[in-house]
Amino acid sequence: MTETKSALVTGANKGIGYEIAAGLGALGYTVGVGARGEARREEAVTRLRDAGVDAFGVPLDVTDDGSVAAAAALVEERVGGLDALVNNAGISGSREQLPTTSDLDVIRTVVETNVLGVIRVTNAMLPLLRRSPSPRIVNVSSGVGSLTRQVGSVGNDSAGPVAVAYSPSKTFLNAVMLQYVRELDGTGILVNAACPGYVATDLNGFRGVRTPQQGAATPIRLATLPDGGPTGGFFEDAGVVPW
Ligand code: NAP
Repeated sequence: MTETKSALVTGANKGIGYEIAAGLGALGYTVGVGARGEARREEAVTRLRDAGVDAFGVPLDVTDDGSVAAAAALVEERVGGLDALVNNAGISGSREQLPTTSDLDVIRTVVETNVLGVIRVTNAMLPLLRRSPSPRIVNVSSGVGSLTRQVGSVGNDSAGPVAVAYSPSKTFLNAVMLQYVRELDGTGILVNAACPGYVATDLNGFRGVRTPQQGAATPIRLATLPDGGPTGGFFEDAGVVPW
């Protein structure tokens, strides 16, 4: 590995992922811009380089084994290892997600991306992360995956709209993360979940109230934790998110 720290951000061509890449780049990280669409990926890499970031494009569809394996090989070739992996890529699924009329294909697709995609990418990148003296994994989760907040939102809309695919996918992701935390205990790899808040992006038709840059703050903080920092936590800007 080189002396310069390196990071891979999935879904980094736009939205919160782009700003995570920009923020880590501004901190001096060499950043792999994971994105599935070639034109959007190259445009993001160019914008980041114009802003002074040492960025390189990583073709990456988190739902595709071959794509993820090729991405790991490319990252190894470019930077030799990884100090931080930010699993940011995610989808919301269809607009209507009432459980009583749910489309099982939508649930499958959302889980494939938001949960299985994170497992696939994490496992492919773990050998590279293990080469770092201070490896960090950040899963971009959501407060709508908090069971405590879902219970508290019965009768009101405080945990977002009823969404049988999206919200439970983030709960599932958090539960999966804790299994990683248990297995990786003692390795020095810190694994945490971040809620970016309600951010104006394509994911929600730009109805969010925060900027992507604001949404990137907690993921960046968790990707750059000092040794001895927390692991197995679920954080937002204001502090800890209840499970
Ligand atoms: P966004 O602008 O729609 O960005 C999502 C990113 O994920 C895009 O780069 C998208 O790529 C990528 N992606 C989706 N499926 C992919 C796949 N199969 N392989 C690789 N990349 C894929 O939305 P965002 O709001 O920035 O979302 C980023 C993360 O924040 C998501 O995990 C989301 O659940 C989470 N989050 C967002 C909010 C919010 O209010 N916006 C709140 C809580 C959590 P394409 O451009 O190719 O589609």
